[in-house]
Amino acid sequence: MENTLKGQTAIITGASSGIGTGVAKALAAAGATVVINYPVESSKPDAEAVLTDIINAGGTGMTAQCDVSKEDQVIRMFADTVAQYGTVDILINNAGLQRDAKFDEMTLDQWNLVINVNLTGQFLCAREAIREFLRRGPRPDVSLATGKIICMSSVHELIPWGGHVNYATSKGGIKMLMQSLAQEYGDRKIRVNSICPGAIQTPINRAAWETPQALNSLMSLIPYNRIGQPQDIGNLAVFLSSDLSDYITGASIFIDGGMTVFEGFATGG
Ligand code: NAD
Repeated sequence: MENTLKGQTAIITGASSGIGTGVAKALAAAGATVVINYPVESSKPDAEAVLTDIINAGGTGMTAQCDVSKEDQVIRMFADTVAQYGTVDILINNAGLQRDAKFDEMTLDQWNLVINVNLTGQFLCAREAIREFLRRGPRPDVSLATGKIICMSSVHELIPWGGHVNYATSKGGIKMLMQSLAQEYGDRKIRVNSICPGAIQTPINRAAWETPQALNSLMSLIPYNRIGQPQDIGNLAVFLSSDLSDYITGASIFIDGGMTVFEGFATGG
């Protein structure tokens, strides 16, 4: 899909590691100019390393520090991107984190942090993206859609997750955020969809794959019998950002090696 996204600018939140990095590299390889967002000074070297890889591979872009849960920082990141590249065409609402605890032991800080980053962060970035899409209007020479938003949700917008109630609640919220935006802005040619990954090998879930025993146990949940890679998500993000998916909006696309067909029921449950 080389050059599928040529002439378009994409902001990828939380792109200094994991899935965000995989998506940024895939979009850049498809011709998009990419903005590699990272949250704090300490993640700047990782963000710059991602950008260097992209430039060495023939891509273009810049890094942008912004905590997606902070309104002023999100507004500034979009303004800087528009100043640099003229507009934003694609938002990948990817930044997210976990603060796991048994529910009766969960602190308000653990709850608030996960909701603020995973859900409010997606609200703030989507709002700035939609404001920019409406300001700029259609560019039919570049894309059939006036703008595209991809929300990084999870299989946990469908599968309840004890011990991670704050995280599962944030992903359930993203489902309604995404669908309501697709409904509200479809007539303005803005497409909004979610990617719902299963287990992808990144720092967020290291405990689930770093020992052979953990990986083996994880495989009992995955019919396709492998852990996903950031590139798998990058491939889907390119498709959902491109005109190949122009009739898809308001959809949650599960990319999980079959986790949501509930393998435990294969032998009768
Ligand atoms: P990761 O920890 O490697 O990446 C998360 C990224 O978010 C990091 O780069 C981090 O710096 C960034 N981030 C955290 N707080 C931020 C903030 N306030 N502002 C901006 N950026 C911030 O983990 P990942 O697996 O790559 O996760 C990316 C997304 O994918 C998350 O939304 C996560 O919930 C989702 N997801 C991951 C999996 C998986 O199996 N890895 C499965 C389903 C969904």
